[in-house]
Amino acid sequence: MSIVIVGAGQAGLQIAESLRRGAYEGRLVLIGDESFPPYQRPPLSKKYLADQMADERLYFRPLEQLEKQQIEFRPQTRVTALDREAREVVLASGERLPYEGLALTTGTRVRPLPVPGADHPAVCYLRGLDDARRLRERLPAAARVLVVGGGFIGLEVAATARAAGKQVTVVEALDRLMARAVAPVVSDHFASLHRARGVEFRFGVGLASITAQADGSFTASLADGSSIQADLLVAGIGVLPNQELAVAAGLECRSGIVVDEYARTSDPRIVAAGDCTWHINRRFAAAHRLESVQNAVDQGKIAAASLLGHSVPYQDLPWFWSDQYDVKLQMVGLSQDHDAALVRGEPASGAFSVFYFKTGALVGVDSINRPAEHMLARKLMQTGAVVPPEAAADPAFDLKTCLPPA
Ligand SMILES: Cc1cc2nc3c(=O)[nH]c(=O)nc-3n(C[C@H](O)[C@H](O)[C@H](O)COP(=O)(O)OP(=O)(O)OC[C@H]3O[C@@H](n4cnc5c(N)ncnc54)[C@H](O)[C@@H]3O)c2cc1C
Repeated sequence: MSIVIVGAGQAGLQIAESLRRGAYEGRLVLIGDESFPPYQRPPLSKKYLADQMADERLYFRPLEQLEKQQIEFRPQTRVTALDREAREVVLASGERLPYEGLALTTGTRVRPLPVPGADHPAVCYLRGLDDARRLRERLPAAARVLVVGGGFIGLEVAATARAAGKQVTVVEALDRLMARAVAPVVSDHFASLHRARGVEFRFGVGLASITAQADGSFTASLADGSSIQADLLVAGIGVLPNQELAVAAGLECRSGIVVDEYARTSDPRIVAAGDCTWHINRRFAAAHRLESVQNAVDQGKIAAASLLGHSVPYQDLPWFWSDQYDVKLQMVGLSQDHDAALVRGEPASGAFSVFYFKTGALVGVDSINRPAEHMLARKLMQTGAVVPPEAAADPAFDLKTCLPPA
């Protein structure tokens, strides 16, 4: 018996370790095209970028621990094709590895800036450790940093750059920050936070082109005809799922590799998990793709169970976090199609939550510097507690009383 995992990130490692914990004793190969042991990405835009974390602390496990678990880790190895008929994965070297079970955990890659001049050496992205190292090396010499994209990664980079004393401008094509994920009250709160720290924003306008200057800096021209001079550009304009292997092998794909609630692809021998999947979670009516540690870990466990022949449905609650300066945003649930957003607490105090409802049911909670309320919100959602919207908005109401009896 042999199981091969393509992609040695958060989800890939989770599957490997869950298989061993599930008493799988056969050959287990974990293939990654990066040159590092599996590592955590969240610190790359936070502590690591701020030079407060060594590389070794990013790694989930020392390599010896992978060896101890008899996980054959193959770094710097790219899988170039899946031969489903022969049940083999094909490596860039031409080598073929047989499998009885296969997991695809290939993650995502950054969306490149679609403008003339985007190949300027000052243009950086942030997805992997190599990107973070490059950015960390370049940051000290840059006085002016332009961030394109006011999403989580762009804002975390903006906060880190500002804390390092850089002049920071954020260009966001929409009219508010983190617009796809949070309510306007949260966007406004973070815009005020960044402005108070000295960040400048340009909303509702896109980047049109980048022109090199003789001194190594560049001019960024915006779609409204204005321009910004800067030394370093960090683009955080979203990601694309790494699904080409799956597409070429004839597996069903949409905006991600399509998997069912058991993390199974359209080939019963192949599972997929993490950022690369277009998946079903029993909690939600529609399939979707998520980019989060929670999803990589929890869906990875489901995928491992399926490889072991157990059918465990995916129904974990999504959660996410973002750190900007000393402010922690914690999110639970999926609030995108809410019809009511109620604020609990006073945003001006710096600590509050937003409770999202759809047809009267709680679908998500964003907490800003309220870790205890975030944990309570998780419990409320996990237990399917009925939370009246007016109670959520009333800070004097004890939400614990909404929890079902233990
Ligand atoms: C800067 C940054 C900050 C983040 N902050 C947060 C946060 O605060 N909270 C949170 O919840 N999430 C955060 N995330 C998201 C989180 O890190 C991802 O959701 C998680 O890493 C997804 O895990 P994954 O295993 O699906 O993909 P990845 O970790 O991306 O792993 C996929 C791996 O597969 C490899 N691969 C792809 N194709 C091949 C191939 N053909 N052959 C071999 N290997 C291949 C890739 O190189 C990569 O190493 C952040 C991400 C980034 C980049």
